Amino acid sequence: MFNKPANTSEWQALDKAHHIHPFTDPKYFDSRGVRVMTTADGCYIWDSDGNKILDAMAGLWCVNIGYGNKDVVQAAARQLETLPYYNTFFQSSTPTQIELAARLTELTPGDLNHFFFANSGSEANDTVIRLARHYWTVRGKPKKTTFIGRHKGYHGSTLAAVSLGGMKDMHALGHTLLPGFAHIMEPHCYAHGNGLEPEAFGLQAAQKLEEKILELGPETVAAFIGEPIQGAGGVIDPPATYWGEIQRICEKYDVLLVADEVICGFGRLGHWFGSEYYGIRPDIVSMAKGLSSGYLPISAVAVSDEVFAAIQEGGPLAHGYTYSGHPVACAVAIANIDVIERQSLVDRVRENTAPYFRQCLGELADQHPMVGELRGAGLIAALQLVRDKSARENFTAEDNAANICRDICLDNNLIMRAVEQSMVICPPLIITRTEIDELVEKAWTGLNDTAARFGLL
Ligand SMILES: *Cc1c(COP(=O)(O)O)cnc(C)c1O
Repeated sequence: MFNKPANTSEWQALDKAHHIHPFTDPKYFDSRGVRVMTTADGCYIWDSDGNKILDAMAGLWCVNIGYGNKDVVQAAARQLETLPYYNTFFQSSTPTQIELAARLTELTPGDLNHFFFANSGSEANDTVIRLARHYWTVRGKPKKTTFIGRHKGYHGSTLAAVSLGGMKDMHALGHTLLPGFAHIMEPHCYAHGNGLEPEAFGLQAAQKLEEKILELGPETVAAFIGEPIQGAGGVIDPPATYWGEIQRICEKYDVLLVADEVICGFGRLGHWFGSEYYGIRPDIVSMAKGLSSGYLPISAVAVSDEVFAAIQEGGPLAHGYTYSGHPVACAVAIANIDVIERQSLVDRVRENTAPYFRQCLGELADQHPMVGELRGAGLIAALQLVRDKSARENFTAEDNAANICRDICLDNNLIMRAVEQSMVICPPLIITRTEIDELVEKAWTGLNDTAARFGLL
């Protein structure tokens, strides 16, 4: 028998004793204890003490349609009753798998008309690696195996996805990464621009790809992968010149272009996919988070007609997950797409809420002495925290300013995320202008209180 904890501190004690947390400093459990979330609705979540918190991170960048959508709940319940599980191996399918693939064909750009399902962004990217290498083998170039990604790129946490990504702290865990992965500089002008205009810097950053391909030998490079806007690396949006140059280089050297749309997909930038926002024509796309708004785990890999043709020629595909295309997760993804379409969320973000969000944050970034730069596009943003705005003096890791700001904001019932020394914001796409006002006001208060801690206000 499990005796349910009676209060928050009992939940915290059990959690500390038995639960291993991803990406959480163990010191935190003694200084504050975890926050136990219990219910949610729309853009708000409630903790075990009854606090109502504005979730400006949409969970982990995923709850695009907001919490508590009854249509999605009913779609899941219906599917659980009809057929809770069947697999996609050995020439089998279920109606929701088929419908979801067909629906995604309508939504994805270009000739990305074929879909492989998995359960997480990490698994989707593992699949990308396997499919791209398989593609080149079938096409008679089996030496093309290396993937080029970017520093501060995030592609997930499995051994392959972490090797693909460029997160230093994650690389350090467990010593050895897989062979066959290389990384280039992330296109962050504020950090690496050395005074260049963004347009010139964007070209320079993209040309790092050409240099890396030539260094490795084009005959060994399978693909380049990038998030349209880098999310977990700190919301790094590239200059407008960047992606066109990346595209040109990939075509020149016969390198597949992979867009990791796990965050940007499903409306985040005011288009169904971030690739449309930047005019990218990817050969392969991975998607996850916004595909189901996090209601159930599901991810997908989209491939072009050409990649699909090679996979077909290659015979039986020796790859798949027990829960690839889980029928309930597919039903949830379909219901999620229905909600986005019925509420015209993509258009609303592009034409209404994102311009307002950026205007409000732009004013904050201009006026607040502790904000050095505003990054992002659409409904994803980062505020770079600085000690000295005009001298562009950043806070250091020892200052810990962003984590301090995050905790201050949480105590004021606002969830933002701290990435290095920036504050990251990625609210549900259903957020209203009134809720954006609340978000920005709370962010302003949190920044003021943080600045006061450092004697800057
Ligand atoms: C979150 C994320 C992933 C990994 O997804 P998981 O479901 O956590 O495995 C991959 N790529 C990007 C861009 C992400 O943001």
